[in-house]
Amino acid sequence: MKILLLGAPGAGKGTQASQIAVKYNIPHISTGDIFRKNIKEGTPIGLKAKGYIDKGQLVPDEVTCEMVADRLAQADCANGYLLDGFPRNLFQAEQLAKISTLDTVINIDVDLSALEARITGRRVCPKCGESYHVTTKTDDKCDKCGETLIQRDDDKPATVQSRLEVYKAQTEPLIAYYSEKGILKTVDGMQSIADVFGDIVKVLG
Ligand code: AMP
Repeated sequence: MKILLLGAPGAGKGTQASQIAVKYNIPHISTGDIFRKNIKEGTPIGLKAKGYIDKGQLVPDEVTCEMVADRLAQADCANGYLLDGFPRNLFQAEQLAKISTLDTVINIDVDLSALEARITGRRVCPKCGESYHVTTKTDDKCDKCGETLIQRDDDKPATVQSRLEVYKAQTEPLIAYYSEKGILKTVDGMQSIADVFGDIVKVLG
């Protein structure tokens, strides 16, 4: 099962992806997570990516596509994978099509005007990556591993606007691209986390 999760920043891709990966026993490949890990470890990819991520811009395609190609070539992807955050523009989608064929693309559809509050209220665990929101999380410790939660630098208001603009200009056109290929399914992302997941499971069967 080769799945792509599409959706604007803050649509809930990461939250849904963790659950989908467990249910269908496929690796969750988040380019954002891979970049953050590389930045933390100070690798050459991390050094190249940091400036772009801090500004809310896309990391150049050549860096991103090579990183994803390497990841998809690993043995655990042989029977399927769940892509989250890649592709993010038409060029990346064409590059992906050269190396792999997606079965289903799920678009988590949200009201763009609700996203700024969703993103700036997000808190994440720097250790295990679990994500929370200030409206439902009353303390600052991760429920899974107890680590103190942080706000991602690029979730701060100054960067969020440019991330949303990048989404509209570069990533949103992928909805039409995959719709034309007949593999796009849309779920309503304005529901509760459990209901969104329920709809995704119905789509995937
Ligand atoms: P995310 O965690 O998916 O919101 O990604 C965080 C940041 O990582 C994005 O704002 C981009 O700067 C960078 N990034 C993640 N995925 C990609 C991609 N497919 N292409 C280029 N940049 C990316």
